[in-house]
Amino acid sequence: MTTLVVGGAGYIGSHVVRLLSERGEHVVVVDDLSTGFRERVTGADLVELDITAPDAREKLAFHLRASGADSVIHFAAHKQVGESVANPELYWHDNIAGLATVLAACANAEVRDVVFSSSAAVYGMPDVELVTEELDPRPINPYGATKYVGEWMLTDAERAHDMRTVALRYFNVAGAGWPELADTQVMNLVPIVLDALAAGRAPIVFGDDYDTPDGTCIRDYVHVLDLAEAHIAALDYLRGDERPHRVLNVGTGTGSSVLEVIDAISRATGQEITPEIGPRRAGDPAKLVCSTDRIRGSLGWESSRTLDDIVESAVAARRDA
Ligand code: UDP
Repeated sequence: MTTLVVGGAGYIGSHVVRLLSERGEHVVVVDDLSTGFRERVTGADLVELDITAPDAREKLAFHLRASGADSVIHFAAHKQVGESVANPELYWHDNIAGLATVLAACANAEVRDVVFSSSAAVYGMPDVELVTEELDPRPINPYGATKYVGEWMLTDAERAHDMRTVALRYFNVAGAGWPELADTQVMNLVPIVLDALAAGRAPIVFGDDYDTPDGTCIRDYVHVLDLAEAHIAALDYLRGDERPHRVLNVGTGTGSSVLEVIDAISRATGQEITPEIGPRRAGDPAKLVCSTDRIRGSLGWESSRTLDDIVESAVAARRDA
């Protein structure tokens, strides 16, 4: 089995590549190394290629054929909500046209199985206890919109080219499976708080007047290694016969508030943390927790790592980096 992983030098992609090569699969990573790192790719071939370049489709199809790939996992995309609001064109072009290129190359090379990184951002601001895949997606920013459009594109590609696809809607991903694969971008709560601590600054909580038990926003934090295992399970699902669903949430089913995450960081670092309470951030739903029924039923996958595991791995990765 050969899998071509687009964006395999990135944070999540490199974890999946590591697990695939550990189980003896041949992996080809395609990455433009704009945010990924060459050093993250071990046990796999690396092709340096920008999937938005004019000749990317032909090159990608060539590498798919040359490697004999039978599946593709597509990670390469921009993922910053604020940036997508300020510069939607970048997201339309790179996220949507990039996926179009990947799907066209797969069709050309007769690759059947595709796993796509989607996001809980497709849901927007749902006012529900648990977010199920039956909810009508209503993205509220261009980033979430490009992920939702991407899911439609997969449906069209399945119909036109006899492909089989799965879109994984990630909830809040954090932690590190191996220190050298840790997230180096400081865009999410856990790395932001660790960065603030390292700089001797107080972390800022974006609002404590939400309708939640401690007033701060609740999210579903999933360990990147659990998420990587979900991708492996998704590949196996595509290779099997039964395939009732093509859109699956990936989370733990357990919510943690911003203050609970900060407490976990305090436990893991042994540092007392007194956060500053700031204003709410625009577009933040009070609560976003994953319903895990569908992915458990379809893939037999469930998370096994806790919030403390996530935070401890992130802290250890910084210490050992
Ligand atoms: N958050 C915060 N302070 C920060 C960064 C994030 O209070 O410096 C909160 C944010 O409002 C949200 C949660 O932490 O409730 C997770 O935010 P993140 O940006 O990591 O992920 P999102 O849920 O927005 O995808």
